[in-house]
Amino acid sequence: MSSDEKDKNALTEKEMSAFMSGSLAADEQDALLNDEHKRAEVADLILMDALLQETAVRFNCASPDILLNFETGMLSTEDTKTWVSHIENCTHCQQEIKQLQQIEDISFTQSKTGSWLDTLQVAGRELLWALEISISQPQLVLRGEITKSWSYAVGPYQIVLAVEAIPGEDEYVQLEGQLLQEEMPVDLTAVSINLYSKNEIVAEGKGDPFGMFSLNMLKPGQFTLHIQLPNNKSLIIETIHIK
Ligand SMILES: [Zn+2]
Repeated sequence: MSSDEKDKNALTEKEMSAFMSGSLAADEQDALLNDEHKRAEVADLILMDALLQETAVRFNCASPDILLNFETGMLSTEDTKTWVSHIENCTHCQQEIKQLQQIEDISFTQSKTGSWLDTLQVAGRELLWALEISISQPQLVLRGEITKSWSYAVGPYQIVLAVEAIPGEDEYVQLEGQLLQEEMPVDLTAVSINLYSKNEIVAEGKGDPFGMFSLNMLKPGQFTLHIQLPNNKSLIIETIHIK
């Protein structure tokens, strides 16, 4: 096999940036989505993008560099004075520390000297690699302000679910998830995803080509999730408790 042939499934940097900036032509996008390896890579990219954006919007919070140093006891005395009460009282920062702990082992040592954005970008790249070799890890713990996450596996399918807060909304939450089949994202654009409570549909999900779906505006309660696949199979998750 020539090396050209071997690499033909890898997403090129040009495709990557065109996709993320939305400048990919419709036929190019179709071609990309029809290639399951490229589709998987794009799914990873979207996760990384979500991670970066989520962090970037917290202007008042400590940067990942500060959180990492705080958590490892390497923060200067002066910075500790500035940040300690914020970090100890801020759920965002607490959550961020938990998330950073998961990627710290593989990324912290090599990115310590860079800016916080570099740190995250390096972490993101390392994270993609980590996910590639162990995709059954609950990837969605890295998205948004997660209050709880679960992962399930049945036959060739893996599902990750996460309850996520809606910014500025106290009463409702959203449920996000990703469906994989043999470690590749399942195209959910034509798949019906319904959430039931006491045999009634309370929310209909929207899925994307990267196996990700979300169900919005949920109140606390007990639910059953039905995912109707094109092959006439249904995936059903019973007793999802949202508090
Ligand atoms: Zn904070």
